[in-house]
Amino acid sequence: MIAKTAFRQNWWEYPIQYVKGVGPKRSSFLSRLGIKTVGHLLYHFPRRYEDRSRVVPISGIQVGEIQTVKGEIIASGTKKTYRGYTILNVVIDDGTGRICATWFNQPYLEKQFSAGSSVYLSGRVNFYGEIQIVNPAFEIITEKHDPLQSGCIVPIYPLTENINQRQMRMIYKNTLDMPGSNITEFLPFSIRERHKLTNLPQALRKIHFPETEEDWKDARRRLIFDEFFLMQIALARRKSTRLRKNGISHVSEGHLFKKFKNNLPFPLTGAQDRVIGEITRDMGKRHPMNRLVQGEVGSGKTIAAIGAILKAAENGYQSALMAPTEILAEQHFLTLQKLLIPVGIRISILTSSLSREIKEETVREIRTCQCDVVVGTHALIEESVKFNNLGIVIVDEQHKFGVRQRETLMKKGFESCDLLMMTATPIPRSLAMTVYGDLDISTIDELPPGRGGISTYLISDEERQHLYDFIRHEIKSGRQAYIVYPLVKESETSTLKSAVEMAERFNREIFPEVNICLLHGKMHGKEKEKIMRSFKKNEIGILVCTTVVEVGIDVPNASVMVIENAEQFGLAQLHQMRGRVGRGSSRSYCILVGNAKTEEAKKRLKILAETTDGFQIAEEDLELRGPGEFMGTLQHGMPELMLGSFSSDMKLLEIARKEAFSLVLKDPELGQSKHGNLKIFVREKFYAKP
Ligand code: ADP
Ligand code: MG
Repeated sequence: MIAKTAFRQNWWEYPIQYVKGVGPKRSSFLSRLGIKTVGHLLYHFPRRYEDRSRVVPISGIQVGEIQTVKGEIIASGTKKTYRGYTILNVVIDDGTGRICATWFNQPYLEKQFSAGSSVYLSGRVNFYGEIQIVNPAFEIITEKHDPLQSGCIVPIYPLTENINQRQMRMIYKNTLDMPGSNITEFLPFSIRERHKLTNLPQALRKIHFPETEEDWKDARRRLIFDEFFLMQIALARRKSTRLRKNGISHVSEGHLFKKFKNNLPFPLTGAQDRVIGEITRDMGKRHPMNRLVQGEVGSGKTIAAIGAILKAAENGYQSALMAPTEILAEQHFLTLQKLLIPVGIRISILTSSLSREIKEETVREIRTCQCDVVVGTHALIEESVKFNNLGIVIVDEQHKFGVRQRETLMKKGFESCDLLMMTATPIPRSLAMTVYGDLDISTIDELPPGRGGISTYLISDEERQHLYDFIRHEIKSGRQAYIVYPLVKESETSTLKSAVEMAERFNREIFPEVNICLLHGKMHGKEKEKIMRSFKKNEIGILVCTTVVEVGIDVPNASVMVIENAEQFGLAQLHQMRGRVGRGSSRSYCILVGNAKTEEAKKRLKILAETTDGFQIAEEDLELRGPGEFMGTLQHGMPELMLGSFSSDMKLLEIARKEAFSLVLKDPELGQSKHGNLKIFVREKFYAKP
């Protein structure tokens, strides 16, 4: 009795064990699938469906097609071939004819097929002297009249040992038909009405027992909407909590920025202007900023960071700019010195390769507020670093950092200090709405004028001679080149070896007249830096690298990027590397040398050769690799979907996002009584995989 009451109040919490036909034993089997309650069960969806309305008479079977037949088992037997395979043959008869079903190497199936019982078979029909059906899906019909199969579309579930499809269907049926069962709706009526969404009890019934394809589609659409909607409610609430926090309001009319702009040797691009406006306006507000600047490689994101630094400085706050590598930090340091010292900003740099004394000195400067901005690497998050009044954290190439690292740095600032992240890997729309769904995003969608553009070519090994002639020609006209070898995980040393050997060969035989240097991941930070610096100064003609040339490196005079074994790199990586050239006014070239064997690799190289649009590339990359790979291991965070898809259900995702955000705007705590069930559903997380 108690159990029944519980079911009426909280149907999803009702223990599966008490459902008719389950009991302690089956419930323990079900728990292996993560099913302990009615909620778990109803949100354990069919893997696929079989349309039994399409059962064909054996006499009318179509050879070459996937067909479903139903008949009585006449005979079965296993034999061994001379090669040692076992073959199980089962003959069935449906009154119109006979067909033989064959399974290879599954002799244990035989005991399931006893003569006289009926079976459904579903699979592709072949003709080898006689019609047969190989390795079909099958289901023994144990009862004369099976009420669970009166509907024509039969759900097929992911199973666990000791429970078969039929029993599973029975459990679902009993659950849905349970007396007093009262699946509660959580989605406000107005939203359902607006987007023509089926109600939840209907949807949960129809996803398990659809009578028509329409039924199934409606149920799916509603449940996919729910997946997105609940996730978006969570994001919207996170954002709304942030907006209600008290952060720093940076108010000032921008005198330093004006001065800086007047000193700048070039005008800002329209996009830079707009994005700096978005950033500084946001910093002026009371709540903490949480903003991502995305912009094509070379679009001038550093200037956007400077806009933020100046805004903070005008208000008497320090800024920290964290970059993933020493070379990059150093480059930012030089840029900031050049552009900010004239407006009276004091700059420090902190990296781990600095000597202890210098580091200590810098740490002191930061603590005693003798610097307004500190640029650095991970060294910034070390415990000894304490700020006097850190007001904004800027993270360059944010995907290179983990959430934890970012947060550690922010903790050094004022409670709720501002955060600005920058990335040259554009965020595909689906991710912008999900993983990054609580951020504000600014986009620099314009390159500074006067860039020469990049032509991309795919060449094979045989065309190498032309390539060398071409590089020679570019270097003669004063340009520089990168030649990159991929870092293959398993054979790091052999790649290194080939790069070392090639660098030597280039030196001796191919380009004896050119100064060639090698840069690889195993080198000491100091040494790497030295080489990068002389490459920047054009003392080196060709830089041979094993690792991906550091992200963000800016050498406008380099005009050739050769990528060896290009098929081994991911799309985003290739695009990043290509972005190392094309930063000056002369035409640049990206030459992919490779031999793509798989279709995927071919597609990747083709996309790269066809477009330089980072947004398009990011979308394609996500498509090719999936979110886990795309985001890297550092911060995956992409929610797993049970029914929906981030590519084919984008429309629904957009609708769900809009509705969720507008609901949270009106009722941030979900405290209104009409949102009571919704609040529970957000908490229950049926849609997260157990
Ligand atoms: P990224 O977006 O890749 O970080 P950077 O900030 O490193 O780009 O800028 C790339 C180059 O473009 C730098 O040499 C920078 O001085 C230059 N640059 C930035 N903004 C402009 C502009 N508005 N006009 C001309 N050159 C610019
Ligand atoms: Mg950059």
